Amino acid sequence: MAQQTLLRNARVIDCISKQPRDGVSILIRGERIVKVDARIDAGADTDVIDCTGKTLMPGLIDTHVHATMVDEIDLQLFLGAGVTTARDVGGKLEKVIALRGRVNSGAVLGPRLFVCGPLLDGRGDSFDHQGEFGIMLDNVPDVAAAPGKINQLLGAGVDGIKLYFSMTPDIVEACIKAVDKRVPVTGHLGRTTALEAVNLGIDGIEHMWITPYNDICPIEMRLTPDISMSSPRFSKTTFKGWEEADLHGPGAQALFGAMVEKQVKMGTTLDLLWLANIGLEAALADTDRIYIPQACLNRQRHLAKIVKAGPEWDIHTGFPPGKGDKALDKQKEAVRILHEAGGVVVGGTDCCGVAYPPPGFALLREVELLADAIGNMAALKAVTAAAASALRMEDQLGTLAPGRYADILVLGKDPSQDVRSLRSLERVYRAGVAHDPQAILAGYPARDMNNLGMA
Ligand SMILES: [Zn+2]
Repeated sequence: MAQQTLLRNARVIDCISKQPRDGVSILIRGERIVKVDARIDAGADTDVIDCTGKTLMPGLIDTHVHATMVDEIDLQLFLGAGVTTARDVGGKLEKVIALRGRVNSGAVLGPRLFVCGPLLDGRGDSFDHQGEFGIMLDNVPDVAAAPGKINQLLGAGVDGIKLYFSMTPDIVEACIKAVDKRVPVTGHLGRTTALEAVNLGIDGIEHMWITPYNDICPIEMRLTPDISMSSPRFSKTTFKGWEEADLHGPGAQALFGAMVEKQVKMGTTLDLLWLANIGLEAALADTDRIYIPQACLNRQRHLAKIVKAGPEWDIHTGFPPGKGDKALDKQKEAVRILHEAGGVVVGGTDCCGVAYPPPGFALLREVELLADAIGNMAALKAVTAAAASALRMEDQLGTLAPGRYADILVLGKDPSQDVRSLRSLERVYRAGVAHDPQAILAGYPARDMNNLGMA
């Protein structure tokens, strides 16, 4: 094998410049990019690959996945879709650390993994500890327990901390203090408002819709301590409240203003509302459904039995598909407001927890929904450069420049013109190693589409 690879004469979206540049070449040595330039003298011992007519861009980053909830074979779907990095924001500590080791060493085919360890709940449990999602949970039951738990996780080598739904502001504060900026802290919170968390110094807010829900929904519709994440009332209540949310009122203004000032990253997960918006028939025609992992399908079947409604692969069991158009539009509007005010929008999908969205392909959907809200280039940056900043890896990932990891997509069409062109993926490099997406996807087990119907 040659020492170097030269990708020659491409259109390059480096996710630094405002526009793509034509006639640019990229030189890869080992796992890094060494040069991005119009003219590169390849020299001896170089594989030269003509990329005339192709578009190159950084590999995509999904900032919100639950990788240990699927079989390891499903992780290759990320690469098949062009997702070269994923942040796991909730999983059993030993499992995520072990999985990160296997994937990052190349023993398992998948995206480079960053892990947060467990969802850190507060006094109460957001899910039944014995149930489907309970394996992801851990607790910080009071302020005094925060330093011990945080130091345990950081000692185990987590890349970030994820605070969860039942955590109250006093414990959120204690956890953020205990982390002391050593890793980024993000949260999907319910008992603490997004504004409180931002003022306490959190680095990221997951879900443009769920976490700031209590900040902007009408007061009489707020989530109260008796509504848990696993309660059938949760989806119904939050959908209604979110549809009524005031994105321009004082609560929203205070939140967006504080997020812009502190550059707090907003994880989007628009794709979670896509299914509720699109309707059952269109969802059944969606070709990405064949990539729903079996483990997710099994979990969702069980969940559907508990709430007794909706198709078994629908995340929003209890909310009719096709009735969520206002909720999705509202979430896009919230993304647009934050982006236009100078805030940081980072793409994430929540894939692998529930059936929809499927690994990797969910981020392609996310980019399409983001592009509706903030345009093509900003949407592409939300899943590359901005997403890398949420991992504090902006000098390593998410852009095409010398010194960065050679995580590069080779596309047949230019996604800055239409982000759906991310689906024209011809080759994907992770750390300088080339993978053929068609070969990856061809090896994925065929699925009986008829078995993905109604519960
Ligand atoms: Zn999640």
